[in-house]
Amino acid sequence: MSGRLMIVSTPIGNISDFSKRGACALEETDIIACEDTRVTRKLLALSGRTSTAKLVPYHDHNGATMRPRLLADIGAGKVVALVSDAGTPLISDPGYKLVVGCHDNGFKVTAVPGPSAPLTALTVSGLPSDKFVFAGFLPPNKKACEAAIRDIRDLSMTIIWFETPQRLLKSLTLMTDILGARLAVVARELTKMHEEVIRAPLPELVAQFQERKSLKGEIVILVDGRQNGETIFDEIDVKIMLQKELHRQSLRDAVKVIVERTGLSKRTIYQLALEMSNATPPE
Ligand code: SAM
Repeated sequence: MSGRLMIVSTPIGNISDFSKRGACALEETDIIACEDTRVTRKLLALSGRTSTAKLVPYHDHNGATMRPRLLADIGAGKVVALVSDAGTPLISDPGYKLVVGCHDNGFKVTAVPGPSAPLTALTVSGLPSDKFVFAGFLPPNKKACEAAIRDIRDLSMTIIWFETPQRLLKSLTLMTDILGARLAVVARELTKMHEEVIRAPLPELVAQFQERKSLKGEIVILVDGRQNGETIFDEIDVKIMLQKELHRQSLRDAVKVIVERTGLSKRTIYQLALEMSNATPPE
């Protein structure tokens, strides 16, 4: 058999989701390139499989060294299976450059498809599934995170993000500030014992997660896209409207009016109003 790369998906939390074809592929391949060899050994053991394949680590830190070796193996006729710790390789996981390397060398790439958190989350979310965009992890830096949310604000399709429990509340709060009261879903621990899917407008999700003392597990956030006719207000629009209202009424009432008009969060408008009223020179 000529050499090739096989992209093999593994479960995202429920071992029974490992496909027969995926298990056979790992048994029959020459080399398994794993994100973490210990995790893949455990997967093989749990699924009652024994593999004579050589397990080698392949991740962001050793990719530059390992890639040429794996490509040389494929060129020499070996079958290499690529797996990540959970889900579908390449989806916020290693593999993209290896696949490119195969194409550049004219090597065949095949897939054993299977579970992946973004699609699993989309199917249970109750958000439109005809058009969606998967946007990976939000950047940890606040400014970059805000910019990433602003980038997708005009898209009229469901947006899917990966998130960590530690950052969930901050991200939901930023989303509320920028996207207003859009319908959203937090899908946590999918296919596992403590699976939960919470669907509510963004401000309600913020309120719910503020109440949680501790939060664990793996999380996908999904947010509804821009609706037909939905007006998107940028900061300049909001400032102009606020300025008018601040001339007419108290800060509190002005904030209330603008929140109602824009659907943006009270926190954002209040902050802006405070900045503006402080900046207004005395008469
Ligand atoms: N390649 C994987 C896939 O196809 O699902 C995703 C890998 S990415 C490094 C890991 C992230 O996926 C987690 O931080 C979480 O956001 C999401 N995730 C993975 N498993 C999940 C699950 N069972 N439930 C909810 N989210 C999950």
